[in-house]
This record gives sequence, structure tokens and C-alpha cells, in this order.
Amino acid sequence: QAKNADRNCYRFFSEEMNRQAADQILLANALKEAIRTDQLYLVYQPQVHAATGRLEGVEALARWTDPALGMISPGRFIPLAEETGQIEAIGLWSLRAACRQMALWMQAGVDVPVVSVNISALHFRNPDLPRLIGEILHESGIPPRRLTIELTESAMIENYEQTFIATQAIRAMGIGLSMDDFGTGFSSLSNLANLPLNELKIDRSFMDGFEPTGKVHSVVTAIIRIGRSLGMTVVAEGVETQAQLDLLRQINCDVIQGYFFSRPLDVQDLEAWLNMRPDTECSRPSSQHDAA
Ligand code: C2E
Ligand code: MG
Ligand code: MG
Ligand code: MG
Repeated sequence: QAKNADRNCYRFFSEEMNRQAADQILLANALKEAIRTDQLYLVYQPQVHAATGRLEGVEALARWTDPALGMISPGRFIPLAEETGQIEAIGLWSLRAACRQMALWMQAGVDVPVVSVNISALHFRNPDLPRLIGEILHESGIPPRRLTIELTESAMIENYEQTFIATQAIRAMGIGLSMDDFGTGFSSLSNLANLPLNELKIDRSFMDGFEPTGKVHSVVTAIIRIGRSLGMTVVAEGVETQAQLDLLRQINCDVIQGYFFSRPLDVQDLEAWLNMRPDTECSRPSSQHDAA
């Protein structure tokens, strides 16, 4: 009897596993088609200077709505693309789309200073990456300081030598480099110091339990000090409340990104958001820039 139960159990799990594998293959094929037919699109989340409220830049985030399957989150399709070898295509597509959008903003006089693009750690293994980034930048005609590349800690953990070479080449072109999701990957601090990064993004998970005193507050304070003392701009991501914003200001966090200011927006909504802000007309000299 017990043996039978085991066997049924085994069959149940293997059927479940087959179904999941089939789902993954279905989804992987749909993603391939979405890339090919340009069905992905970007949304842009504002990054705001903590002290002045000025717009510092936007992060480009990929979105995918499949006609049959509906909206699929990047938390699902980015790891899938990493498994199925499609992540480089997504990276290059994101870069092209973001640079093109920046060129349009510049032509239209829309004041978005920088666009940040996420590049997977896996993509950093390809020695052609810096050259391809350079080509895409050149095609768009935007100045390199208008583009920032976000990489995650896993790039420096799994693949430090190659990542080091790539980051040097990217920075040498004048493009910004940001360490994304910092504080979750246990990367070495000496590697962090040696990479030519100009920005550090504190992972969103630190915003849980971020209170005036306590351990999370101590860690966030320390990360901000490390980043700033290495000459980096420190960005907090996932900021949702006024209380979090106030605390981050007190401990000299430079830039804030999160739902408190805005969710990621499509181009039209971003432009509406920009027009709604009193700040956008204040980019003349002696404007809000020096205000407390
Ligand atoms: P990420 O680069 O760390 O991006 C920040 C994520 O946090 C975004 O999720 C954003 O929507 C979300 N977020 C921002 N503010 C808040 C907040 O206040 N509260 C909460 N709860 N969440 C907030 P999203 O858009 O779902 O993207 C998830 C991840 O997928 C990104 O994390 C990034 O690692 C990856 N990803 C997105 N687009 C691309 C892409 O084009 N290429 C690559 N390689 N990865 C991408
Ligand atoms: Mg990012
Ligand atoms: Mg992040
Ligand atoms: Mg994150």
C-alpha cells in the first residue's frame, strides 16, 4: 500500500514537473517571438535628487505584454531569458530603445538628464559588450554622459576579471556605471572599490524595516558613507514613504527612486509627470539647485 502511494506521489510530481517545463518552453518561445517582432517596450522611473527634488535621471525597465498570455513581469522573463540565451538580445534591444528615446527627448527639449539601462551579469561575459554599447550610442547620436549602465553584484562575483575589463572600457567612453541592488550579493568591498563605478544603488530590500534607529538604519548609513567616500552617487531604490525619504535625507543619500515619487511610467505619462512638477522650469542658474 505504501509502495503504491509512493508511486502515485512520484507520478504526480513528474507530471507537475513536465507541465512546468512545457510552460517554460511555451513562454521561452513567446519571448523569442516578442523580441523578434518588437513587442517589448520600456517604461521609465524617475530618479530624484534627495535635497532639491530635481530630476536626476530615469531608469529604463522592460515590459512585456503577450497577446495571449497577458502581462509577464520582468521578474519572470528576465531570468527565463538568462536561461535560454536571449538575455543579450534583450540587453541590446533595451540599450537601443533607451538611447533612441533619449535622442527624442533631447530634440524635443525634454529635460531628462540621464537614462539608465540594466545589463545582465551574464552579458558582461561577452567581450564584445563594450564595443556594442559604443556602436549603439554612436547610432543614437546622444552624448555618452546621458547614458548609464546598471550592473548587478553577481557580475563582479562570478566574473570579476572580465567585468573589470568591460567596465574600464565602458567608463573610458564616458558612459556612467552603476552598481545595482547593492548589499544583497555579498560582493567583496575591495572589488567594489576597484571597479570604475560612479553610482551605487542600495537594494530595495533595505527599505523594509528601515526605521530611525536599529540595524537596518546602521547598515544603510554605512553603505551611503562607503559609496560617497569612494566618490559615487548613492541612490536608494524602492522608496515608498515620506518617512523613508526624510531618513535618507538625514543620512545624506544623494538620489531617491521609488513609488513615493513615481512608479515606472510610459513615455507619455513621464512627460505629463514632468510637466506637472513645479521643478521643471527651475533649471536656470540660481534656481532650486542650491536650496536645502
Ligand atoms: P531593478 O533594476 O532593481 O529595478 C527596480 C525594480 O524595483 C523595478 O521592478 C521597479 O519597478 C521596482 N520598484 C521601483 N520602485 C519601487 C517601490 O517603491 N516599491 C516596490 N515594491 N518596487 C519598486 P521591475 O520593473 O519589475 O524590474 C525587476 C527587475 O528586472 C529589475 O530590477 C531588473 O533587474 C530587471 N530588469 C528590468 N528591465 C530589464 C532590462 O531591460 N534588462 C535587464 N537585464 N534586466 C531588466
Ligand atoms: Mg536596475
Ligand atoms: Mg535595482
Ligand atoms: Mg532591485
